Amino acid sequence: MHELSLAENILEIVEAERAGRRFSRVHVIRLRAGALSGIDPEALRLAMESVCEGTCAAEAAVEIDAEPRIVTCRRCGATMPGDVGPAACASCGSIDLELAGSSGLDIVSLEVD
Ligand SMILES: [Zn+2]
Repeated sequence: MHELSLAENILEIVEAERAGRRFSRVHVIRLRAGALSGIDPEALRLAMESVCEGTCAAEAAVEIDAEPRIVTCRRCGATMPGDVGPAACASCGSIDLELAGSSGLDIVSLEVD
């Protein structure tokens, strides 16, 4: 499962941070999921719960911001929200559209003590 390996990667980064910063527990993990990452936030949250069990992040709240999907028109350069999935550019009617966004998952911040 995609989300499970992502959660394992995040935990590895958190553990590496812990080794460097010497905190004992993580309270909040804030993540940003790229618009093109295909991440299911709920599945990722569940995966985080399972991989963090018994670690410094066991009690951590996981907050996931989903990056908005933006569609750009290749002909006129207009941008529009991609969630509704327009089939044609709202300005010029071109169907040569590009969905832009990051495909990654980033840790935005950690609240620790
Ligand atoms: Zn256009």
